[in-house]
Amino acid sequence: MSARLLVVDDLEPNVRLLRAKLEAEYYEVITATSGREAIERARTEQPDLILLDVMMPGLDGFETCRRLKDDPKSRHIPVIMVTALDQSEDRVRGLKAGADDFLTKPIDDVMLLARARSLLRLKVVMDELRTREASGRASGAIDDDVDDSLLLGGRVLIVDDNDHQAERVRASLTPEYRPQIVADPRKAAEHARTQPDLIIVNLAARSFDGLRLCARVRSDEATRQIPILAIIDPDARERMVRAMDMGVNDVLPRPVNTQELSARVSTQVRKKRYADFLRGALDETLESAVTDALTGLNNRRYLDGRLRRLMARAAQRDEDPVSVLICDIDHFKAVNDTWGHDAGDEILRQFADRLKQNVRAIDLVCRYGGEEFLIVMPETTLDFAAAAAERFRRSIDAAPFRINGGARTLEVTTSIGVAQSESRDELEDLIKRADSALYAAKKSGRNRVKVKLGGRSGEAAA
Ligand code: GH3
Ligand code: MG
Ligand code: MG
Repeated sequence: MSARLLVVDDLEPNVRLLRAKLEAEYYEVITATSGREAIERARTEQPDLILLDVMMPGLDGFETCRRLKDDPKSRHIPVIMVTALDQSEDRVRGLKAGADDFLTKPIDDVMLLARARSLLRLKVVMDELRTREASGRASGAIDDDVDDSLLLGGRVLIVDDNDHQAERVRASLTPEYRPQIVADPRKAAEHARTQPDLIIVNLAARSFDGLRLCARVRSDEATRQIPILAIIDPDARERMVRAMDMGVNDVLPRPVNTQELSARVSTQVRKKRYADFLRGALDETLESAVTDALTGLNNRRYLDGRLRRLMARAAQRDEDPVSVLICDIDHFKAVNDTWGHDAGDEILRQFADRLKQNVRAIDLVCRYGGEEFLIVMPETTLDFAAAAAERFRRSIDAAPFRINGGARTLEVTTSIGVAQSESRDELEDLIKRADSALYAAKKSGRNRVKVKLGGRSGEAAA
């Protein structure tokens, strides 16, 4: 897999050395010699992976990493910190700053490439999810914020036959991660199907081959997405590379340093939770198509979500209210009864087109029900909305509609109810007022606009 890597080191020879190694593997390499330059290049050139030196004058690696991970433009790019000190303390500091992995100088080529491959593979999956999520968000189907509480906590499965070590690991993850120990790999594979947020496997176990378990977890469709953290013998370099190539997400050398363990667990669980969030949001989008097939307008479910957020924002920021217009076609049943359902559909489509042509870019039009359409006007007062409604009403009344593929024309009219949001409104309150204005418009003869005021006041003619 080819990818663009950003190498950051204040010493020119180090940069040159890494560049040569990586280019030999057909990676595209860009470089930076300071933290600031690294941040700039990461933002503008969107590398797929960053190799970041820890000791640099000015912004050091920790601070650079923190800033990269704080910035939505570079947050998703994995960072491998390169440190001269093989100190657990440094690794914990780096993990807390958001680093995805560590390498110690002098860099072991095989380890470097194994880690790069592993992080790049995971990034491809995440990028795909993020892109799809972003397009869902652009269409309004997905909520804008990841609630931080979604990323906390979690459930961890520990697979280890070394009682003493397993107990230490369990103790250090309790209570936050509700850890559970299983010593039998077959039971572990079954347990994995209950979807823990992370599996910790001892690859140095005596009674079973941890790699085999990892392979099994990865090949089972039901458990494929669960991250694995492997505990390894620091000397078993080849096994470590095998593990990473097999899709193990992270490794931790023995003896287990519990602080480093918690930092790595926290990183893995957060990533998993974020991926779950993206997948969940996507599923929701798929489950409820956001557009109405007949008119191409957004549907009610989509609109309700958007409207709720707009109302909350208007209430919080003390800006102009949100206004809504409900347009209902007059005597539409008679159209169906006289000219047939297909003619009815033709009218619905043209009706939708006329509404679309008459709204501003910030307004939202949706098909709310059979022959009912809702227009949401953000930051719009009732007076302005009523005037717009009158314009819509005329645009329907002004020219006849075509039916039977254009062979005939038909006069169509619409009644419209208008209301604006009040600070304590729920969505239902606002819709109810617009609906009651619509009812008034129907009752007083159709083909007209009525507004309904909030609070104690009743209706008023537009
Ligand atoms: P009013 O002026 O009081 O609104 O009368 P109306 O006839 O428009 O209202 P009513 O609610 O009685 O009838 C609505 C009709 O809309 C009945 C239903 O068959 C028709 N309708 C709903 N969805 C569709 C659709 O997708 N296509 C077609 N052709 N007709 C639809
Ligand atoms: Mg109607
Ligand atoms: Mg109706």
